[in-house]
Amino acid sequence: MTRPATVAARLGAFSGPDLPDPDGLRSCVHCGICLPQCPTYQILGEEMDSPRGRLYLVRAAAEGRLDITPTFTRHLDLCLGCRACETACPSGVPFGRLLEATRGQIERRGRGPARRALETLIFGLFPHPRRLGPALRLLALYQRSGLQSLVRARGLLRPFPRLRAMEQLLAAVPRVGRLPALVPAVGARRGRVGLLTGCVQRLLYPQVNAETARLLSRAGWDVVIPAGQGCCGALHLHGGRLDEFRRLAGALAQAFPEALDHLVVNAAGCGSAIREYGHWLGEAAPAAALARKTRDVTELLVNADLPLRPVEAVATYHDACHLVHGQGIRSAPRALLARIPGLRLVELPESDLCCGSAGVYNLLEPQMADRLLERKVDNIAATGATLLVAGNPGCLLQIAKGCRARGLVVEVLHPVEVLARAVGP
Ligand code: SF4
Ligand code: SF4
Repeated sequence: MTRPATVAARLGAFSGPDLPDPDGLRSCVHCGICLPQCPTYQILGEEMDSPRGRLYLVRAAAEGRLDITPTFTRHLDLCLGCRACETACPSGVPFGRLLEATRGQIERRGRGPARRALETLIFGLFPHPRRLGPALRLLALYQRSGLQSLVRARGLLRPFPRLRAMEQLLAAVPRVGRLPALVPAVGARRGRVGLLTGCVQRLLYPQVNAETARLLSRAGWDVVIPAGQGCCGALHLHGGRLDEFRRLAGALAQAFPEALDHLVVNAAGCGSAIREYGHWLGEAAPAAALARKTRDVTELLVNADLPLRPVEAVATYHDACHLVHGQGIRSAPRALLARIPGLRLVELPESDLCCGSAGVYNLLEPQMADRLLERKVDNIAATGATLLVAGNPGCLLQIAKGCRARGLVVEVLHPVEVLARAVGP
C-alpha cells in the first residue's frame, strides 16, 4: 500500500508521487452502507457528496475518464475527512488515505487565488505556535478593547463568512504558562512517556496539557515534554500537503527521546495523523516507531489508580471523528468518565457525527460546518447535560461556539479536565 514519496508515476489524471492507491479504489463494491453515516450526504442528499460518490469520482480520474475539474475538486473539498465511512465500510476501503492522496493531487494542480490566500493564512499560522501565539495576543487585545463588540454589533464581518467563522471561534484567549521539560512520576513508577503539546492545544487549551502531565505523573509516569517539539503535521496531512507533512513528522520524531514507553496525545486530530506516519513515511522511519508508541491520553488514564472524589454533574460525550473513526477509540473516554463518582453520563444522540470542526474545515467551509454544528447543539440540548466532553481542541472550540450562539449553558471540557476535577489539586 505504501508508496515512497520519491516514486513519480502517472495514473489517469493524476501524476507524481503519492497517487491514490488503485487497489484501495477498487475495493469499494458500491454497496452504499457508508452513505447514512456520511455527514455531508446526510445534509445534502447528493450521491457525489457521499463516500461512494467521491470514490467514483476519484476512480474515474485515476482511470483517465475524468480530469481534475472544479466540480471534482468541489466534491472533494466538501468532504470533512471525518472517516465515518471507514468505520461503516465492510470492505475496508481506506477512505482517509485515498482522500489525502487525492487532495495532494488537487494541491499539486494549484488553487484559485482566493483559496490560495486563505490556505496561506491558515497553514502559515495554525501549525506554527511561534506565529499563532502573537496572533492570539493581538486577538486578545481586539477582544478586550471593545473592538470585537463593535464589529459584531455592526455585523461588519457578515460579507466575509470565512473571516467571520475564524473570529467567532475564539471566546477568550487564555494566558499560557511554560511546562517543565520533565514532570517526574509520583509514587510507584510505571515508566516514561512523552507528551505532545500540539499547536492549538498548547495555546488555546494550555490547562489540558498541564492537567495531562499532572495526572500522568500522579499515575506513576515520568512525563517528558521537549520544549522544541513542533507540529505533528495533522493539518497538512488532511489538506494533502504531503511533503510538508513528512518534514514535520520527521522533525517531531527527532524531538522526542527514543527511550519512551509511549507518546501521549490529548488531541484526536494529532493522534490520528501520527498513527499514519508509518504509511506515509515508511515503516522503517523513526517517525513510524514513534507512531507505534502513540496512545490517546484516555487509554493511559482509564485504569489509573487515582483516588477520585465526586463531580456532581450530568455529562454527555461527543466522539471526536479522529478519535473514534481515525483511531477506533470509543470506549476508553466513556469508561474514564464512568469511573468518576457523582458524574451521570448521558449518551449523546449521533455522538459520532462530525460537529463540523474537522481540522480547519470550519474555516474553509463555514456554511456546511454551521449546519453540522446546529445539529450537534440540538442533540446536546436534548440530553439536558451541563457538561459536554470531547477529546479534541477543534471540537471543543466548535461546540463551545455553537453553545454560545444558542445561549445553551453547557461547560465544554476535555476528558482530562473532568478527571482533574475528580482528582483534585
Ligand atoms: S470522510 Fe466523512 S464526509 Fe468524507 S465521505 Fe467519508 S463520511 Fe463523508
Ligand atoms: S466505501 Fe465501503 S461501504 Fe461505502 S459503498 Fe464502498 S464498499 Fe460500500
